[in-house]
Amino acid sequence: MDFICETCGTQYGQIAAPPDRCMICEDERQYVGWDGQRWTSHKSLQQRLSIRIEPYRGMMALTTQPAFAIGQRALLLPTAAGNVLWEALPVVTDDAVARIREAGGLAMIAISHPHFYSAMAEWSAAFGNVPIYLNAADRDWVGRRDANIVYWGEGDRLVLGEGISLIRCGGHFDGSTILHWADGPTAGGALFSGDTLQVTQDRRRVSFMYSYPNLIPLDRRSVEVIRQRLSGLRFDDVYGYARERDIIGDGRAAVDRSFGSYLDVVG
Ligand SMILES: [Zn+2]
Ligand SMILES: [Zn+2]
Repeated sequence: MDFICETCGTQYGQIAAPPDRCMICEDERQYVGWDGQRWTSHKSLQQRLSIRIEPYRGMMALTTQPAFAIGQRALLLPTAAGNVLWEALPVVTDDAVARIREAGGLAMIAISHPHFYSAMAEWSAAFGNVPIYLNAADRDWVGRRDANIVYWGEGDRLVLGEGISLIRCGGHFDGSTILHWADGPTAGGALFSGDTLQVTQDRRRVSFMYSYPNLIPLDRRSVEVIRQRLSGLRFDDVYGYARERDIIGDGRAAVDRSFGSYLDVVG
């Protein structure tokens, strides 16, 4: 059987009984729900949820309907290396698989950090066991071990294909990773920031937290490391973790400004 945490959407399995705790929720970066630890399963979620798929700036944006757990968005990036699924959702539906197959299928999955591992193994299996790229520094946070996971971590950059790289920035998690697409989905390129850089509600800046729900800010040194890892990268746009958390245009300047003001405050 498999078990999926109701609060964070992490899948555990294949195991006979539910785990006695969710390590993601009990970590100080998340929280156990008001009603205590509750579990569901992938099959149950397939009954409860659908996946909304919308064309978005040359990509496909995927979200669960209704919103479930953390509520992240996944994006399908049509790159020179094939379709890359950036982040994962807690459920895979037949309808979503059919829509993605029509769009050319899936070549690989890459995920920013453990909060979005969700049902990654189900996504890989649904598309012929495509590789799931996770930074090796976060391997202890994997709830469901899976042969399709590729742990990378020799150096802080992994080139997935022409113009597509994963860059480990750390901070929020040791292995927190961003995806940089040098010339897509538009010519000016984009940064896919996960929770490493959080696009704020005004979509004019980013911020940096160790815990978002518990409001634990990130220390100065970690933010300096993120700034250094991103130095020299060009991008017009920053795609955040959810719908309407995107900076469209002047993203590089917004990120630079945000590093400056954050470091001034924590100075
Ligand atoms: Zn959880
Ligand atoms: Zn997170």
